[in-house]
Amino acid sequence: MHNARKVYAGGVNALDDVSLTVRAGELLAIVGRSGSGKSTLLNIMGTLDRPTSGTVHIGGRDAAQLSDRELSALRGRRLGFVFQHFHLTDGLTAEENVATGLLYAGVPRRRRRPMADAALDRVGLGHRTRHLPHQLSGGERQRVAIARALVNEPALVLADEPTGALDTANGQSVLHLLTQLNSEGTTIAVVTHDRDIAARLPRRIEMRDGRVVSDSRDETVNPGGGT
Ligand code: ADP
Ligand code: MG
Repeated sequence: MHNARKVYAGGVNALDDVSLTVRAGELLAIVGRSGSGKSTLLNIMGTLDRPTSGTVHIGGRDAAQLSDRELSALRGRRLGFVFQHFHLTDGLTAEENVATGLLYAGVPRRRRRPMADAALDRVGLGHRTRHLPHQLSGGERQRVAIARALVNEPALVLADEPTGALDTANGQSVLHLLTQLNSEGTTIAVVTHDRDIAARLPRRIEMRDGRVVSDSRDETVNPGGGT
């Protein structure tokens, strides 16, 4: 992302000249208080929204040069999203919810179920594939959502307050899962207003009033082992 700005209707400067690079294998926190522009930043990184000015490149491609159809293909193949409130579909099983992560990725129908089951296995829910969302705890629902984000082995997973709707124990366990997935090679950006969570991740980007006010790395903490 280079010199990205986002001005919403009404003149709110939600993102004010932000430049940053995420490299393969990183696990980073985007931290800041409510209203500081974290979700706006994540949505623009994930091409869910376009910047008012500035550029976003994903895997070397300039998002502004892509049509809406090409952007949804890029999101389907290269990006995974995790939200605070899970965004699962009520009437679908865990397996079916995860398989929806493959709808825009050009994966043939017969391969979707085994891939969904493998992703559920990775998040520790191999025994819950036929459960409906209302039969799962909050922590389990978020694991299903994480499995859906991972199922297509995206280049980057973007998680917006993934522990925000969970109690402390489930929140810790989701954070532990994200750390483990990163150590297996997944690149992950986690938005959080929680400084304790941010402190546990190896790179922290701090936002204030739409600007990046610090970007720090612990060279010693490197759960991703990525380069
Ligand atoms: P955070 O995720 O850090 O809480 P947001 O990125 O959601 O912050 O919001 C940043 C600023 O932009 C806030 O002042 C918010 O009120 C404003 N904002 C967010 N979305 C919109 C929108 N769709 N229209 C107008 N203003 C918005
Ligand atoms: Mg937000």
